[in-house]
Parts: sequence; C-alpha cells; structure tokens
Amino acid sequence: MPVADHAHYCEMLDRARKGRFAYPAVNVTSLTTANAVLKGLADSKSDGIVQISTGGAAFASGVAVKDMALGAISIAEHVHRVAARYPIYVALHTDHCQADKLDAFVTPLVEETERRRAAGKPNLFNGHMFDGSALPLTDNLDIAVKLYGRLTKSDLILEIEVGVVGGEEDGVSASAAAKLYTTPEDTLEVARRLRTVSSAPYLLAATFGNVHGVYKPGQVKLKPSILKDCQEAVVAAFGESARFHLVFHGGSGSELCDIHEALDYGVVKMNIDTDMQYAFTRAIADHCFRNYDGVLKVDGDVGNKKAYDPRPYMTRAENAMAARVVQATTELRSAGKTMLH
Ligand SMILES: [Zn+2]
Repeated sequence: MPVADHAHYCEMLDRARKGRFAYPAVNVTSLTTANAVLKGLADSKSDGIVQISTGGAAFASGVAVKDMALGAISIAEHVHRVAARYPIYVALHTDHCQADKLDAFVTPLVEETERRRAAGKPNLFNGHMFDGSALPLTDNLDIAVKLYGRLTKSDLILEIEVGVVGGEEDGVSASAAAKLYTTPEDTLEVARRLRTVSSAPYLLAATFGNVHGVYKPGQVKLKPSILKDCQEAVVAAFGESARFHLVFHGGSGSELCDIHEALDYGVVKMNIDTDMQYAFTRAIADHCFRNYDGVLKVDGDVGNKKAYDPRPYMTRAENAMAARVVQATTELRSAGKTMLH
C-alpha cells in the first residue's frame, strides 16, 4: 500500500488502542534498514511505523553532507516509492528532536509537507516528535502548543514526551537525577494545554521507568500502572475523548508482561531502535567472522569477491532485521492485524 494518509493513520491509532496492541516504530538510517522494516511488517501482516532520528537522518544524507532534513526527506521519499509493493500500511515519523534542533530538522520537514500539500501532493511524513522532556514542563508545553497548532493544519500528528527516559539515545543521555516517572498531574497539564489548540489526536510518551539503550533483562523497573493512572485522571477530567494515545520509548529488553500491561493502558506505538541495530549488525558480524579470509585479503592473498561484495551480507542483515521486526509485531500483538483486510 502507499504510505498511510492522515485518515488511515488516525484509524490505525484508534484501532490499536481499542484492540490493545501497538505498532512497532522502527528507527532506520538507510534504504536497506527501511526495506527491512517493510519486509518484516509484510511478513507478519502488521501495519507499522518507519521512524528517523536526527542522527539517523544526518547519516542518511551522507558523511560529506550531514544534513538532517535532507537525509530524512531522502529516506521518506524512498519509502513512499516502495511502500506500494508491500501489502500493509506504513506511516512515517521522525523521532526525538530537542528544542535546539527543531529549526534544522522538524521545521524544514514540516515546510516540505506544506509545499507538497500546496501542490496537491500527499504529506511527506505522518508525524513528528518534539522532545522537550529535558525542559521544565511549562516550557516543554509552550513549544509543543505552538508546534501542535502548525502540525494539525497540515494533518501531521505531534508526538511529545513528558518525564525523562533514562539512558542514552542518539548521543543524548539523561542525567541520573532525571525524572523517570511521569505523574498524572503532568499528563493532565498536557491535555489541558493541548486541548485549547485542537481536538486532533496527538501522541504522548509518558515515562514509567523506561531506559534508552542497553542493559541486561530484569535491570529495568518499569511501572506501567503509571500509564493507567494517567489515563484515568485525564478521562475523569476531560472525558473519554481526551484519552491518550501513548508511546513506549526505551523499551529494549523490557519484560513481555510489562509491555503487555502497557498495551492494555493505551500504548499504541513502541519505539524500537537498539534491538534492531543489534539484529542487523549481528548478521554482518556473522558473515565476516565465518568468511574471514574471504572478506579480507590475508597475507597477500586476493580474498573472495563473493564474500566482500556488500550485497550478500547486507541481504543477510536486511533479512535478520526483518525477522526482528516480525518478533516485535508478535510481542506488540499487531501481527495479522493489518487494516488492509
Ligand atoms: Zn523518548
């Protein structure tokens, strides 16, 4: 299918919340990783989300260019072109963008969509994330409110974060004193501020002990019940229509029971980066270790062109990442639930 349009994407989000499942939002940095996500989603008959971070987008534009907006546009255009070959719906998102990077990343991408719409073409992205979680809540929401107003005019979904996810992502790490658990009061304030702008859906990453990056299983103390408390508070204050569409950040290595509990409380999107990076790289490492004297010219030998041609190991990496996407759709209960039927 083509990339989901706004109406289809909103329907995807509502179906997920009602059906207590979530879409994997997988970070990509290249054509190959984007293709891996599409293949994994199609293999599992799940809709899903392709996502691009600021660092991933800069990388995608080429080491000599390092233009975040250009790299994101390039990958998004590729996905728009190839998505039609996969029998699922996919949406395009940008990931964490701190306030100081908005002008170099989100703003030019919104302008690109505005230009496209003016020319009668579909949106480039479905949604953009602003990460003001490092700011005081009032400052975070001042920026979010302004951005939400602009995005809703172009049928773009805003994603924001309150509370701080621990660990490190894309070179940005949270301090040890960071606020790892959102409170219902914080999320009520989010709803109170955003509902003055529009009734359009938005995505909220509320933190409940999540950590970005790597750690051994069992080391994270997640409290998904925080999400339940936030939902109950917002529905009590503003009615059922205010119920949040929640996002799960920093979920690598989480216990399945915690993930499922979070889905029960309205998580509709789960960001997955670290586990995908590992699946991709592991396949390449496997190829190189098994074919050591083929990928390298050892001791004056000539190596093996079949081994050092990037295509065979990139193919393995694409397949391995696609398989990890399939696993994610099973864990998130989105497998077999594409809207296409
Ligand atoms: Zn986050």
